[in-house]
Order: sequence, then C-alpha cells, then structure tokens
Amino acid sequence: MTHRILSIALDTPLDTEFDYRWIAGEADAVVPVVGQFALVPFGRREVVGLIIAVKESSDYQPEKIRDVIAVRTALAPLSPEWIALCRFAADYYQRPLGEVALPCVPKKLRDPQPTALERALKKPAALRSDSDIDVSRPTLNEQQQAAVDAITATLGYGAHLLFGVTGSGKTEVYLHAAEALIKREQAHGRAAQVLLLVPEINLTPQLEASVRARFPALHVATLHSQLAEGERLRHWIAAHQGRAAIVLGTRLAVLASMPDLKLIVVDEEHDPSYKQQEGLRYSARDLAVWRARQLGIPVVLGSATPSVESWQHAGSGRYQKLALTQRASTHARLPRVGLIDMQHHKAPEGLSPPLVAALRERLARGEQSLLFLNRRGYAPVIHCDACGWISNCRRCTAFMVLHKPERRLRCHHCSLEMRIPAACPTCGNVDLQPLGRGTQRVEEHLQQLFPEARVLRIDADSTRRKGSAQAAFDAVHRGEVDILLGTQMVAKGHDFRRLTLVGVINPDTALFSQDYRAGERLFAQLMQVAGRAGRAGLADHQPQSEVLIQTRYPQHPMFRALLAHDYEGFARDTLTERRAAGLPPFVFQALLRAEAKTLEAALEFLQQARELLPHDGITMNDPVPMTITRVANVERAQLLLESASRPQLQAFLREWMPALRELKSRLRWSLEVDPVDI
Ligand SMILES: [Zn+2]
Ligand SMILES: [Zn+2]
Repeated sequence: MTHRILSIALDTPLDTEFDYRWIAGEADAVVPVVGQFALVPFGRREVVGLIIAVKESSDYQPEKIRDVIAVRTALAPLSPEWIALCRFAADYYQRPLGEVALPCVPKKLRDPQPTALERALKKPAALRSDSDIDVSRPTLNEQQQAAVDAITATLGYGAHLLFGVTGSGKTEVYLHAAEALIKREQAHGRAAQVLLLVPEINLTPQLEASVRARFPALHVATLHSQLAEGERLRHWIAAHQGRAAIVLGTRLAVLASMPDLKLIVVDEEHDPSYKQQEGLRYSARDLAVWRARQLGIPVVLGSATPSVESWQHAGSGRYQKLALTQRASTHARLPRVGLIDMQHHKAPEGLSPPLVAALRERLARGEQSLLFLNRRGYAPVIHCDACGWISNCRRCTAFMVLHKPERRLRCHHCSLEMRIPAACPTCGNVDLQPLGRGTQRVEEHLQQLFPEARVLRIDADSTRRKGSAQAAFDAVHRGEVDILLGTQMVAKGHDFRRLTLVGVINPDTALFSQDYRAGERLFAQLMQVAGRAGRAGLADHQPQSEVLIQTRYPQHPMFRALLAHDYEGFARDTLTERRAAGLPPFVFQALLRAEAKTLEAALEFLQQARELLPHDGITMNDPVPMTITRVANVERAQLLLESASRPQLQAFLREWMPALRELKSRLRWSLEVDPVDI
C-alpha cells in the first residue's frame, strides 16, 4: 500500500511544521504534492494546512503521527515560487511559515468543509468585461513614453521609481507597460499576469473601471478585504489559475498566487496603508520588490511623494528613477499654494476670514471646495471650566471624543462609548464645553455660515455603511456638493473636476510629533490633498486653483518646500536629518511590544528580553511605555532594537525569537520588523 509522510504548515504560533501520514485510499491513485492543501486533525479540531514537503519517513515515532483526513486535489498546487515568497516573509518578519501562508489565502479555502471550494471551482468568477466599452487610448507624452520603454526594455528584474506629480499620468504609464508586456508574452505564446496594488479600497472601483475599459478582452480580478468571502475565493482562484490577466488589489493582494506574473505595480508606494499593522506586520511594497526580484520581472513604484526610503534607493541606483514632470493634460496647472498665518487671524470655529472669503468666492462661481481636517468627531474632548475636569477614557490614556450628532462620547482607541454627561461628574457644573474641533464641528459651522451651500462630510463615521463612501464620492463627481469636508479619506486619488479650492484647517500638530515620520507623512498628505485642486476640466481663462493652509508656523521648512512644490528638496533635507540622527533608512529597526495588566510587568518582560542574549552590533534601547500607554485597560510598553546592518539584525532576531518563546511569559508580546509607528 502506498503511503507518504506529509510535512504540513498550520496556522499556529508554534514555529514548526507537522508530520502526517498519508495512505492511498482506493479512490486516490495520485500521491499528494507540495503546494496542495490538506485537511488534518490538530488537537481535537480538524484544520486545513499546506503541504510543504512529501517524504518517505519521519523523525517522529510512528505512533505519534496522525493520518491525513483528505487532500484537496481539485485545486492546482501552489507554486514553489509562491511558497518561497511566504517563506521569505516568514523569515524576515520572524513568524512561523503557517502563520504567513494560511491567513493570506481566502478563508473559505481553509474551511474544513470543501463545499465552498467545490462550488467556486464549478462556478468560476465572471471576470470578462463588456467588449463594447469605448476604448479611448490617450497618446503618451515623451516622458510617459520614455518611462514605459524603460520598464519594458529590460528582460528580468528591474525596480523603477515612477516619480510624477498628481495629474502627470502615472496610471497611463502603468496601463501601457502592462499592455506591452502582456502583448510581448502573447507573441511568444505565453500567458502573462499583471499585479496592480493600490493603497485604498475606495480607489479600486476607479482604477478597475479604467483597466476594464482599456483591456475589454482580458479578465480582471480584484482582491481586497471588503469583498464577500465567496467572491474573494472566486477571484483568488481566477488569479491562481492564471485566468485573471490583471489582478487589482490592496496590500493583501501582494501575496496572491499568480503563476504567470510578469509585472508588479505599487501605486502611491509611500502610503502607510501598505504596511499591515497587526498579525504579520509586513510591508506590501517591500514584499512586492522582493517578489519581482525572485521572479526576475519589473516592479514599478509610483508616487508624487515617494517614501524617503525609496527616494534613497533611487539616489543610490538600486531603483531606476523615472520622472514625470509635466502634467499630462494641458489644461491642468499646478495649484497656487498659500499659507494663512494663524497668529494674525482669529478663527473661533476653525475657519479664518481669508479661508471663509475664498469659500464664498467658489460658491458664487459655482465651483467646488474641499476642506481637509484630519480629525473626526465634533471635538477631541469636552471639559469643565469650573473645575478642570476633562473627558478622559477610563480605559485608555486618551480622551473621549465628542460625537455631537449621536450625542455620545467615544474613545477612538478602545471604542468605549457613553452618553454626554448632563453635568460635570466632579463638580456638577452643567456648562460643559467642547475643546478643539473635529470634522462634525466644522460641518456645523459651515452650515451656519453658508446655509444655501450643499456641504458633505466624508470620514470614517459618515461612511460606516458599506458602499456609502463610494456613493458620497459619486455625489461630488456629479456636482451635487459645493463644499466637501473630510479627513485623509478625501485626500487620496479622487479626481474632482470642478474643485478649485483646497483648504487645510489644522496641520500643525504633526509638525512637532515625536514620531520622526510625521513630517514626511504630512508633506505627502498635503501634496496629495493639494493635487485634488486644479486638475483637468476647467478652461484656461479661469483663475488658477488655490490651496490655502492655516498654520501658526508659516516659516517651517516643510511649508517652504510645499509652497515651491519641491518634493526633491524636502526629501533631500529629510534624508540629511535622518542620516545625522541615525534613523531609517540609515539604520534598521525592530520593535518588541509587550502588553500586560500593569506597566511594571510589561517593562519587566522587556528588560528580561533585553538581557537574554549577547547582542554585538545591535543597539538595544531602554524599554519605555508606548505613547498611548493604556488601551482598553491594557498597559503597553516597547523595546526598540537598532543596527547599522540589516543582516546582523536579522541574524540576531533569528536567535532571539526562540529564546523569547522559551521565556513562556504569559503576557502578550509581538515583534515588528521595520516598524513604522514608534
Ligand atoms: Zn467641573
Ligand atoms: Zn478607550
């Protein structure tokens, strides 16, 4: 009787692979292969794992080895390249292989019941687009053409940083490069797949429409977290079977199985949402570059404000820089950026007189305005003037935010909610006041100022229902909104044709943040939000679009760079500062976090971790409480490791992690490699 030992990766924190016995039944004539899924007993449960080795024998005692229940033979096995990608991610981010490889496939694939999989295989995703869509193909300007040529010229690996201002036509470069590569492969009788990554789910419908219109004959699959599970499974399978020529998705799509992958594009490569913030804390951008190198294919990182890491790589020649300096549409001009010095203007409700006047002008001309305020809710806190009471969250080191329409206080860290107290809990004063302002408060003020204007607020609160964000953006596009007000959600990617004014209400807090990346993020955000103004569609005789930024620090170098639309100067200064301060990308970091009932316990664990092993070449900083120390009654602390050498840091982490697990501490801890929020 045929039998084999299968090494199987399971989704557990135990850093090991498990041996199971497979015995050929009467029905199965074919021996399982690496890359197939198998249903196995694990403890008292039955779980789906991934076969990563097929062996004749095991090192374990035969009586300890349990039998495989079933092998999922209906699905083609995952490729060795895909498993290698997961293995790299597992090693680099210091997680067990199973915790990487299994969570990144659709949930329904890991279901012990194979019914969903069978159904999906029987009834595949309908991916073909309508072929009667108007295929308009804008001609490329010289710079765009040069970029497409550079991307497609090299056979084999090449990393390209496509640096172009908003409206310079980066999307056209992606689409032309994709088309050229797909055609080249087809000419040789080979299949080709292209992976297009975008930072934000809300941006996929727009890009999807462009892609479908451009490639009516090709299958387009989408992968993001808001797809229904059944749909996600179908699209994943279409990518895995090579039927989807183009896969469009958010960060999780970087781990999609694509056997014929020939090009990867990471749009808005600087965007923080490419970094997963829980579980496997990976950077989709970094994995995209690794994957391209492994497969020997080109990867394009596009941005108007590249991350300074990528800029550094472009400077050192690791990436090839492709610049688009002209806006693609001749009508589109860069907006004029102006600063409103808030030391000279009173703005009791957040809007200074010059900004109000500019809004009034747009309303009179029937044009749209956008106001950007990165703080949702009505006011960040309410307080009592009489005794100084302030609405702290009782479970977190944070304030309870006032949400006026709902008449609630809400903690944005632990989601605790309560009614607004009728009187001060400490002294009984009934006159509690909001302090500071969020989007709801500015919305209320706008309605008072301009009762005739149509004001729309877009933030995480107003778009909780699925599809409501898209509906809101559609209303703006149809011209049904005069003033759009929102958080960073409004800054990304949307092309509002009638928009001629962007107002930024309070960017100053980020200027003095202790997070060394805050300045870079603010610059990118402001450039991006500024890019919403003055895009195509308005005639030449109309006045230039305008961006007005309210600040108390108009002399700050970041604003000087912004006024000049000078990303390069900003990046150069930032890199100089980082080098002098010994910060990434000039050092490599890892962060160990611990959570406990008491801060002492968390710090003590980190101190123990710090002294566990000799660490030559690694700087171990002192354990410190996290900025927001307590969340939901859990105290949090962190320990930062730094090294000038990435291999050295990696080598240390490989020894350190098992030693940390050996500690068998009962508190929760996690390690993040290349942390972004420190
Ligand atoms: Zn009071
Ligand atoms: Zn809280």
